[in-house]
Amino acid sequence: MNAPKPPATTFSCRICGGSSLHPFLDLGKMPIANAFLSCAQLSHPEYTFQLQAGFCDSCHMVQLLEAVDPDILFHDHYAYFSSISRVMDDHFGRLASSIGAEILYDERLPVVEIGANDGILLQKLAAYSPRAIGIEPSANVAAVAREKGLHIVSEFFDTELAASLRAEHCPAQLVIGANVLCHIPDLNGVARALETLLDAEGVFIFEDPYLLEIMTQLAYDQIYDEHVYYFSVTSLCRLFEKHGLRIFRVEPIPVHGGSMRVYGCRSACSRATEPSVTAQLAAESEYGLALLQTYSAFAERVQQSRTSLRELLQRLQVDGARVVGYAASSKGTVILNYCGIGSDMLEYVCDNTPSKHGLFTPGTRIPIVPIDRFAADYPDYAFVLAWNHLNEIASKEQTFREQGGRFITHIPTARIV
Ligand SMILES: [Zn+2]
Repeated sequence: MNAPKPPATTFSCRICGGSSLHPFLDLGKMPIANAFLSCAQLSHPEYTFQLQAGFCDSCHMVQLLEAVDPDILFHDHYAYFSSISRVMDDHFGRLASSIGAEILYDERLPVVEIGANDGILLQKLAAYSPRAIGIEPSANVAAVAREKGLHIVSEFFDTELAASLRAEHCPAQLVIGANVLCHIPDLNGVARALETLLDAEGVFIFEDPYLLEIMTQLAYDQIYDEHVYYFSVTSLCRLFEKHGLRIFRVEPIPVHGGSMRVYGCRSACSRATEPSVTAQLAAESEYGLALLQTYSAFAERVQQSRTSLRELLQRLQVDGARVVGYAASSKGTVILNYCGIGSDMLEYVCDNTPSKHGLFTPGTRIPIVPIDRFAADYPDYAFVLAWNHLNEIASKEQTFREQGGRFITHIPTARIV
């Protein structure tokens, strides 16, 4: 049976302004993914929005139809500090060292990081460049970076800021952003600012979740409020080309369940476009990323995954099994809300982040407890909400398995492992 055709819409694309933005996936009413609730907040209604993704068949950008106001998402108490993760620390260490070895070319020219967070990457880049500047609009996160002695500007990256940085510090030899580009609604503004700030031979590097990976892995939990866009190399090439910029290299990277790092420069820069770009464009074309029906088929597989998960959990519930959730994350919020899984199906969600203990999952209001609670009284099943860390979690929790416990994972279909 063919997937039903999504209706055409009058929503206009944020990138090309065209009116051919087709909604293909509706994950329903969704709370803010990392807005974990305190006991006191349980008596108040939660902010929710309709989580829907659309495909523009004019410029090929996949994007949210309803973007949440950044003031609600990136408030002064924005919780995500990059440095907490050891995996990310190693990841950025390798990135900084390869940049130092083959991208930087003139120490008089600044290196600028957009969305510098608490300085985890900028601090490593500063070892290779005496003029490292971070841009971080979130005040409390910027303060942590400044305490490390880093030069941080607390503003949004736009053409005006780019012009003032260029005037004060010279054009940039590198502009970089990790998990930041997909958060910014005005990407044409970012591209204009890049065009303003970059030196003639300067390079920009961005890494963000990668659309093809999301689709092949069925990682629909990557789709949430903070990610306004889901990039393909095709859509990014088109965006940058409009602004006199060019992608010359792409590298798939394994973080966050599948991301892509793109390297770009001015169109007239002497760097040649490498074979990785044409190969990735061909892979995207072959998968059908230019076709609306590919997105409808994805949405159908997402619905099937939801059905299989609900059926499995309902069967275990009838059998009287004890089932808990493992790892309280933004991605988990999407899975729990979309699949309609509450405290009737999961006794609690355990997590190793102390600041989340005693809180409740957004929307579904399941209590979050320390991992110790899990270990003290093993349930029958643990549903892994961070599916991309299943192997890591399973090897850490060998005693649970030895005592008869089993894990549940839900992608592409729900199963006990
Ligand atoms: Zn468009």
